[in-house]
Amino acid sequence: MKTDTAPGSGAVFFKEKYLELSGLTAAELGRRIAAGDVKVREALDAVFARIDAVEDQYHCYITIDKEKAFAEAVGIQERIDTGALRGPLAGVPVAVKDNLCTAGRKTTCASKILHNFVPFYTATAVERLQAAGAVILGKTNMDEFAMGSTTETSAYGVTKNPWDVSCVPGGSSGGSAAAVAAGECLCALGSDTGGSIRQPAAHCGVVGIKPTYGTVSRYGLVAYASSMDQVGPLAGDVTDAATILEVISGYDEKDSTSLRRQDRQFTAALREDVKGIRIGIPKAYFGEGLDPEVAAAVRKAAEDLRAAGAVVEEFDLKYTEYAIPAYYTIADAEAGSNLERFDGIKYGYRAPEYTDLHDLYKKTRSEGFGTEVKRRIMLGAFVLSSGYYDAYYRKALKVRAQIKKAFDEAFAKYDVLLGPVTPSTAPKLGESLKDPLKMYLSDIYTVPANLAGLPAISLPCGKDRNGLPVGLQLTADGFREDILLRTAYTYEKIRGGFESQKIL
Ligand code: GLN
Repeated sequence: MKTDTAPGSGAVFFKEKYLELSGLTAAELGRRIAAGDVKVREALDAVFARIDAVEDQYHCYITIDKEKAFAEAVGIQERIDTGALRGPLAGVPVAVKDNLCTAGRKTTCASKILHNFVPFYTATAVERLQAAGAVILGKTNMDEFAMGSTTETSAYGVTKNPWDVSCVPGGSSGGSAAAVAAGECLCALGSDTGGSIRQPAAHCGVVGIKPTYGTVSRYGLVAYASSMDQVGPLAGDVTDAATILEVISGYDEKDSTSLRRQDRQFTAALREDVKGIRIGIPKAYFGEGLDPEVAAAVRKAAEDLRAAGAVVEEFDLKYTEYAIPAYYTIADAEAGSNLERFDGIKYGYRAPEYTDLHDLYKKTRSEGFGTEVKRRIMLGAFVLSSGYYDAYYRKALKVRAQIKKAFDEAFAKYDVLLGPVTPSTAPKLGESLKDPLKMYLSDIYTVPANLAGLPAISLPCGKDRNGLPVGLQLTADGFREDILLRTAYTYEKIRGGFESQKIL
């Protein structure tokens, strides 16, 4: 295929165009498309050329739909040309986690039980991205029903970390994070119930935001733990992440927990200035179990922010040690209830042979769900059972309230809390499946923000001795994405380009 600007053969054109476009952020590509320098189809050609070249190696996607993407691109280009469509994401190729419903596109949640599920409606967050002119490349791999921290519980194979293919990309939004890191999309959507955006972002050297609970509609997001689930962006830098968040957020009458926020000008917060910002470092976050190289990179980031004028000090954040048991009690209780709908009747997998209705349910669910999901359904049923409800579920809710109170006290003194995202860099493939408890414990730094509904961001702050990325986590009080983004943006400027965020 040749175009007016193609210098030579199709293959050479793709390569040159890809190399030219691959270094761009979503916002930069959007600007070039708006200026008419790059056509939407050319951007798609370049990204699909990249996908064709490396997807076999990394397996970021469960479903890729080239035809749909190119078909959508035609209409988008027309609307850009006539001036009907403007905005930073018009024409930008994006990826979507496979637990966000997409009308006419398969949505599997990485589960066998939804292997053939094609929704007839689209999640609000995705709809808003599409309305802004973003082109969907495909649906990304994830842990089954977003339960896991490595993307290894997917029924459709593992995603590899593009920095080292013997390592996991993190999870559960591992496919989205790896796709951004590998240049298989410009940016992506993920979901975060206990760290599933921030943790894979850290392991893959990209940026991920979990917004204040209620900021992005959960309509069309297949529920895991509804009181904590939030949709958010994974992107190459803080500007892209803020840009996407601005587009996908906003009140939605279809989600009863959706907030009417007037303060959604997230990109306006991107200022390079942390003078006087009070940063608190929870002492307990640097205790036992934290890899010394991760600790050193995160401490260096704190020093950089101090040098830029922030006031940085350590303090005691109470109840940190109870966050994991409270999170897994509440998350599993909600998951058990949410997953009751998958029974083989209305949609998805149905066991081929059964004797009666009860047997149909039993066989469908036994065959359709994977081990981790079943473990959580059983734990959820246990903590909600009449004999144990008070001892476990009710107690976890009380702990959750105390954790929220501890954050309230912290934010009376500090604007932003700073710490690691994960205790170590990306583990080797296979390691975590052997020891689920260890995997649960590795969520220690991310689950508190979900329990308390707070906004938090993960961004790269260094690499370990093996060249694997280390993530820095910043957390702000509810509704304070502005100060969160400003601090993250300033740090990103101090840090400078994170070498080869898009691995070629
Ligand atoms: N790893 C955590 C869990 O398995 C978080 C998952 C998520 O945020 N979806 O529950």
